[in-house]
This record gives sequence, structure tokens and C-alpha cells, in this order.
Amino acid sequence: MKRTDFLKTLSLLPIAASAMSISEFNSFTAGLEKTQRMPVLFVGHGSPMNAIETNGFTQKWADLGKTLPTPNAVLVVSAHWLTRGTHVTAMEVPKKINDFGGFPRSLFESTYPAKGNPQLAEEVKSLIKSTDVGLDHDWGLDHGAWSILKQMYPNANIPILQLSIDFYKPAAYHYELVKQLSALRDKGVLIMGSGNMVHNLRMVAFDKMNVPNYGYDWAKEANGLFKKHILDGNHQALFDYEKLGEAVRLAVPTPDHYYPLLYTLGLQDKKDNLSFFNDQLQAGSLSMTSVMIGG
Ligand code: ZN
Repeated sequence: MKRTDFLKTLSLLPIAASAMSISEFNSFTAGLEKTQRMPVLFVGHGSPMNAIETNGFTQKWADLGKTLPTPNAVLVVSAHWLTRGTHVTAMEVPKKINDFGGFPRSLFESTYPAKGNPQLAEEVKSLIKSTDVGLDHDWGLDHGAWSILKQMYPNANIPILQLSIDFYKPAAYHYELVKQLSALRDKGVLIMGSGNMVHNLRMVAFDKMNVPNYGYDWAKEANGLFKKHILDGNHQALFDYEKLGEAVRLAVPTPDHYYPLLYTLGLQDKKDNLSFFNDQLQAGSLSMTSVMIGG
């Protein structure tokens, strides 16, 4: 609706409704009860095949779907949506994006028909004051989102939005940006970063893909360092990841799969407890190590 049409509509509403501010009127969560404060997740997503396979990682995702409070919506920050500026998906029905190649047809043909929520997208835009968030109608759900959610919420009955990563901004920028969405945790919105803390595709040992917890020494070292700084709440060290030495340099050759972690940590309150799950290395140069804050 154009703004002028919207204002015309508003003028036709009864007095009580027209006394609402435009931001309240647009707010998805204004009509929702305050909920138990939702946890925040960072999920190591690994191979797209996790969408349709059953293994230890996907069983944990399915467990989370059953044991966490059922969300009103999920907002995913995926390593696979990198943009200039920050954008949020605002379509009624986001398309499933098969953003990979060389996998079996069954993966391409699998579906995940979750809806979006344009009203919540508007609200995300209005909550973030530090930049003008774009309302996106082109993206959809990339595999960083749907491969996990298909296991967590197989009925695809929860609205899903994605928030993009402005790839032209430094680490601390992402952490500060997401803090502005903290109130959504009290309205049943599950916010999830999706990436991999250790993610070096050039060094993947494909022949060791199915060897449990197989990691190179540097991958183990980097995984341990990340966990230590997360447990210590030393987020400054995580912003300055490029100063953490050779192991981390190999673990984060580019920060696309690392930045989603910073979105998760940015939503951590002092009183939140924190735990790790799927804390495993895979194929030498990947870690599935995941974080739950709160919950
Ligand atoms: Zn990925």
C-alpha cells in the first residue's frame, strides 16, 4: 500500500484506531502477548545434505524444534545472503533457493513451503535505527535457513524471515546492529545465526566426511579458541578475530560463515545462560559447533 493510501485508510478508521501511531499499526508483534524470552541460536549448518539426511546434527535440530518454545516467527541471519546494506525478506511466500551445485536431485526437489511475514519485516526495519533496512522481495530462503528449519520445523508452519549481512561492514557493526532487535525475543521471535565458525572449503577432506569429529589440528585449536572467548564473554577478541593467530586465519579465510555468530552473541543478555551443541569438527576444516543463548 502506498503511504498516501495508507493514511487515507487510517482516516476512515474509528477514533480509537486512528489514535494509534503508524508504527504501532504496522507492528506485527503489537498484537501478540509478551512471551517467555526466546533463546537465540547460532547453528553450524555444514553440508546442504543435512536438510534431508538424518544424523547426529540433524537429530539435535529436530530436538530443538520439539523442546524450544514454539516461535511466532523465525528470523535467520544466514552466511549465504551477503549484500551491500542490510535487507530483510518482506514477501508473503519466500521461495526456496537451491544455492549450491553437485548434490543429488532429491535435495533440489525437496520443498520447504514456509510463509514469510511482511508485517514483521516492516517491524524489523523500524526497529533498526542505525541504517535504513531494505525490504526485499527477491531473495527467499537460502540453504543456510531452510536446511536447518526443515529439520526443526518440518511442517513449515512457522513464518520465516531472513536478514542479510552487509558484507562491506566490519565485525563489530553486525554485533551492534542486531542489538536493536532484542525486544523481538520477548514476542516469540526466534533469532538464529546460521554459518560455521570453522569453515575452510578449500581444505575440506571429502574422503573423511563421514569420519566422526575429524578435524585438523588448527581447526581444533580455532574451535577451542572461539569457545573460550564465547564462554568468557570476550566479544572484543571475537571482533578482532584476525589477530587470533594462524589457526583462526585458516578457520576464517573469509568472514561470511563467521559473522552470523556475532549476530547471535549481540543478543546475549548478562543473565542468559549459554551452552554449546553439535560441538564437532567435520571433514578436517569445518566445525558444526553451535551455541544456544538463553533457553
Ligand atoms: Zn554454508
